[in-house]
Amino acid sequence: MNPATCAICGQPMDDAAEGAYGDWVAFADHDNHALPEPGSQAPGLAYFCAGHLALARERAAWRCHDAVQALRVHADAQAAQALSAPVPLAEAAMAPRSPWWQRWWG
Ligand SMILES: [Zn+2]
Repeated sequence: MNPATCAICGQPMDDAAEGAYGDWVAFADHDNHALPEPGSQAPGLAYFCAGHLALARERAAWRCHDAVQALRVHADAQAAQALSAPVPLAEAAMAPRSPWWQRWWG
């Protein structure tokens, strides 16, 4: 069987730092009573690393596929935000263009 990897970032369970293990989350479309086919992943069940586990659990009421899609979008947005920090380019572009002395004298 393949080692479990985070459904969001793909971090393998084996790579988890000591004490920072992820966990499996059972989503709305997971059937507790249906045994998965040997060698295949149970439907509605996904593994998440420690960093994404809390977000995944918040969406446990969703269907697995929808939750993972939403979380991936969320993770991408966060990554983009981290890249643009700490210089807010949009803010710098909106700064007044007038020379300092004009601002000084009003
Ligand atoms: Zn992850």
